[in-house]
Amino acid sequence: MPDKPRQIPGIFNYCDRWCERCPFRSNCTLFESERQFKRELRNGGEAALWGEFMNMLEESERMFQDAADKGGTSQEALDHVKTEFTERTQKERRSRLKGEDSLRLAKKYAKMVNRYFRHNRASFYQKLEEWFTAILLCVPERDPAKEASEMQDAFEVIRWYQDLISIKLSRALSNRDHTYSDEKPGEPTPIDCAGTAKVALIAMDRSIDAWITYRGIFPENGDQIIDLLAQLAKLTRRTEALLPRARAFKRPGFDDDQGKHW
Ligand code: SF4
Repeated sequence: MPDKPRQIPGIFNYCDRWCERCPFRSNCTLFESERQFKRELRNGGEAALWGEFMNMLEESERMFQDAADKGGTSQEALDHVKTEFTERTQKERRSRLKGEDSLRLAKKYAKMVNRYFRHNRASFYQKLEEWFTAILLCVPERDPAKEASEMQDAFEVIRWYQDLISIKLSRALSNRDHTYSDEKPGEPTPIDCAGTAKVALIAMDRSIDAWITYRGIFPENGDQIIDLLAQLAKLTRRTEALLPRARAFKRPGFDDDQGKHW
C-alpha cells in the first residue's frame, strides 16, 4: 500500500488558496477537511453537519457561562467586555490601515483591472476572430491554440490575484506590530505579517508576468497594460519597503525542503 502523503503543518497559512493549481493538496489538512466537508454534504450529511455545528456552539456557550459563574462575573459584564474589546481592536486596526499607501495602491489596481476588462471586450472578440481565420487559412506562423491557452492562463492569474493582493496586504499590515509571545520555535505563527506579505508579493509578481503575456497578445492595448504594470511595480516597491522581511520569509512546504519550490 502506498504511504499516506505527509502533512505539512501550517502550509495553508501562507498560500494563495488556489487549491485547483496547488501542488500540495495531498499535504494540506485544510484541503482535506474541506474535501471531506463537501463529500459529507453531497452524501446528504448536511443535517448531521449542522447538528454538530450547533452542538459545538452550545458547548462553547456553556463553557463561557461556567467560566463566568466561577469567576463571579455576570454574562452581561463579559459580553460588555467582549464588545468593547472587539470595537477597540477594530478601531485600532482601521486607524493603523488608514492612509496606508500600499493598500490604496492595491485597491486602485483591482479597480483598474475591472476597468481594463470592461473596456476591452471588443479586442477579445477581435482576437477570437483572428484565431479562427488563422485556423481556417492554416496560417503557418500562427499557433492559435497556444496563444489561446496562454491568454486563458494569464486571464485566470490576473483575476485570481486582483483582489487577493489587497486582502493579504491588509492582513499583513494590520498585524505588522503584533508579537507572539507563545510562538514555538520552528512553528509558523497563526498570522505572520511577513509570510502573508510574501503571498501578496508573489501575487504581484505573477500578475506582472501575466500582464506581460497579455501585452504580447493584445499589443493594441499596450498603453493601458503599461499603466497596470506601473501600478503593480509601484505597489511591489512600496510593500517591500514597508515589510522588508517578507521576501525572505520561508513558507512551510512552498519554500523549504518539505516540498519543491513553488
Ligand atoms: S496549501 Fe494548497 S491545498 Fe492547501 S489551502 Fe492552500 S492552496 Fe489549497
